[in-house]
Parts: sequence; structure tokens; C-alpha cells
Amino acid sequence: MKLVILGAAESGIGAAILAQQKGYDVFVTDNGPIKDKFKAQLDLHKISYEEGGHTMERLLEADEAIKSPGIPDTAPPIRALREKGTPILSEIEFAGRYFPAATRTICITGSNGKTTTTSLIYHILRKAGYDVGLAGNIGHSLALQVAESPHQWYVIELSSFQLDNMYDFRADIAVLLNITPDHLDRYNFEMQNYVDSKMRILQNQGPADTFIYWRGDEYIPAEMAKRAPVCRCLGFSDAPEADSLGYAADGVFTLIEPRAFSLAQDHLSLPGRHNLRNCLAAAMAALAAGVPDEVVRAGLEDFPGVEHRLERVGVVAGVTYVNDSKATNVDACYCALDSMTTPTVLIVGGLDKGNDYTTLYDIVRQKCKALVYLGADNAKLHESFDHLGLPVADTHSMQECIEACRLFAAAGDTVLLSPCCASFDLFRNMEDRGEQFKALVRAMA
Ligand code: ADP
Repeated sequence: MKLVILGAAESGIGAAILAQQKGYDVFVTDNGPIKDKFKAQLDLHKISYEEGGHTMERLLEADEAIKSPGIPDTAPPIRALREKGTPILSEIEFAGRYFPAATRTICITGSNGKTTTTSLIYHILRKAGYDVGLAGNIGHSLALQVAESPHQWYVIELSSFQLDNMYDFRADIAVLLNITPDHLDRYNFEMQNYVDSKMRILQNQGPADTFIYWRGDEYIPAEMAKRAPVCRCLGFSDAPEADSLGYAADGVFTLIEPRAFSLAQDHLSLPGRHNLRNCLAAAMAALAAGVPDEVVRAGLEDFPGVEHRLERVGVVAGVTYVNDSKATNVDACYCALDSMTTPTVLIVGGLDKGNDYTTLYDIVRQKCKALVYLGADNAKLHESFDHLGLPVADTHSMQECIEACRLFAAAGDTVLLSPCCASFDLFRNMEDRGEQFKALVRAMA
């Protein structure tokens, strides 16, 4: 069997190594340069590859293709493969073919909260002593683990692009957090196409499987009514409502199924309403996976959070510094402000992707004592926020920004980096922005 792999990064290299091990004739092709560390892995396994373009003849010789989730269906090599009728799979689908019978999976998707929920479930399963791997969109190849370090359990973050090329794969426990417009350029600008893609997480689930979802979502309940799934469906909501199997009520985090479970809400380590949903989903998934109550409770209490997402960096001179560099859109910043409990100095700015800031006005008035603009060009921020009448500062580097924050913030306040914008005007990426912020805060301490 000839297998061609398009895209030579984390998932492609993992798929190549697994395929080689299973006796496929493997060829890896990438239209850009391949990183040295990936070339070294390919060389080590004597897998043939090309970079800087695709040789169409070799591509079209393949019996099957594996596509990196980053490559759109409109890319010429994908079009050519489709015309020829070559099956195109995701790395996750391929890896799933080689699961031993005892393998169990928990798969998480949604427009927001995937990485947080995936990490939290993984944290709880590890705490319970499970033999568990972390895989998928979070950055670790599932195929590589199946090939080289197999686990009984996998917690897998799935993007819609991975789901698009999954057919026979079945999740034992599936989690769908929410569906809000995103990536529509890859879905013909049709929301329903994107919704259908997310709903694929349910496909192949049988009566022994579990599907966990947020009942408050605009799309999911209607899609469930349309599809009438046969698996066990566990819907959670923010507050108690008829048929909800998990919610918070009067400060108590409460589950009814998979079994009765409760915890004082202020014991959850993750702040904010959006994280309450992530915690409800994670607790349902962990209980469905058989983790004992006390371990689920301990895991929800001591989960350290995920880097760059409402990450508490430290307290300097009584001021708490929080890094939410991952908040690259207005919605994410809204969630962050919503979870603030002390007067907040908000750092906003960067590369604006056409943001409409008006939805933030009320919450900024409620929660913020000052605004620090951080971007190459802050003109739109001035236009959007100055009229609220808060003190503002105009900065163009993280150093300047931290100095301004220090002047505005008093003991008991919070400085929140939740910029609503991409980072590429002043930083390499959102991680670099968060790292610089943390380094300067730590230097002050
Ligand atoms: P993803 O992996 O889906 O991008 P993350 O867990 O990295 O999600 O969170 C990204 C941002 O999305 C967070 O900083 C937060 O502001 C927001 N977010 C997290 N969970 C949710 C949720 N359940 N609903 C809405 N927004 C959320």
C-alpha cells in the first residue's frame, strides 16, 4: 500500500512513522521548508520526503493520503487527489486504526476552551494513575504515541479540520463545548458547514459511548434533536434547568450524571464563567471514565491552568498579574474581564483583525480602573475607548507597558494582559508576548 502524507510537521511526521512501522510504502511531501528536527526524524526512519513543492505523479500514485489539518480542501494537491478518488484521512483517523482493543479515548472539540478542557481532563486522569496520553490539536501526535509509546487512554483535542477527515473513528467519550463562528473561510462561508464539522465528533458513537455537551449553546441542542444520537447524552448548563445534568447553583458545583457529585464552586482552581463550563465538561468526562470522586475533586481544585490563558503570574507589591495573551479576540477578553474580582488595569492592543470593541464597553466600565494600550499603532484603541473616561496610557513595547501598569495599579488591584488582538505587530506570536510579560513581572518581584 502506498501512502502519501501532505504536511511534514508534528502530525505528519507521527503518521509517517506509524505508517512505516505498519508496512506502508510512505512518502512525505510539504510545499514549504521542513524543519530540521522533523527531517532528522524522517532520516532516522529512512522515510522518503520532499520539501518546497509537491511532485504530482508521486502524489497520485498513492492508495491513500493523510492531510495536515492546516491544508485547506482548495489546495491544488488536495483537489487533484479528490478528483482521482484517493481517500484523504486525518492523522487521528489513521492512528485510530491501530488502537489495541483495550484503548479508550476522550475527545474534546468546540470553538473555545478545547485546550483548557483537554488539559484539565488529562490532569485528572493522571492524578488517578491512569496510563494516559495527551494528543491531537494540542500539539502532540497521536500516531507517534501509538507507534512508540502506546497508552491505554488518550485525551485528544480535535479541531474541526481534524474532524473533517475522520470517518470510522469513534470516541468512547466525546465532549462538545460550544460552536461559535470561526474559520468560516474554510467552510465556504456557511455556518452550517462548520456546525456539521463540529457535530462529527458524535459520529459512530454507540449505546456504550458518552456524549457531553453544553446545553446553553446556540446550535448544539437543535443539532442533537435533528440527529437523535443513540449514545448516552449528558448535557450541562450554567445554572439549574429542567433536564440539565450538571450546573452551578448557590455556589455549589453540581453533577447529577454520570453520578451525583458536588464541590464548593470557590474550590475550582480555574476562574470565570467560561471555565465553569470547562470544569463541568471535564468532571463529567472524568467520572464517565471511572475516576473516583475524590480524585476528580482534587484535580478540579489543584489544576494549575494552561499557560497564556488567564494564567496567574504572581503578586508584586500587592498587585496580581494575569497573563491571558491567548485572548486574541474580543470574546476572549470579555470572558477574562468577566472573571475579574478586583479593580483591573487592562492591557489591550496589537494587530486588530477588524475588532468591534463596543461589546466591551459595559464590562470595561464595571471592572477596569485604567487601560494600557500596547501596539505598534494604538489609534483605533484611542478612538474606541478614550471616551469612557478612564485613565489610559499609550505604549509600544512590553517594557513601557509594564511601567505604565505599575503606575496605575495599587495593592489589591489586578493587571490583566488580555489584548483582544493578534501579537504579530510587536511580538513573534502570542506565546512570545506572554513570555515577555511574565519575565518582566518576575523581574519586578
Ligand atoms: P481553544 O483551545 O479552543 O482555543 P483555550 O482553552 O485555549 O481554547 O481558550 C482560549 C480562550 O477562549 C481563553 O483564553 C478564554 O478566554 C476563552 N474560553 C475558554 N473556554 C471557553 C468556553 N467554554 N466558552 C467560551 N470561551 C472560552
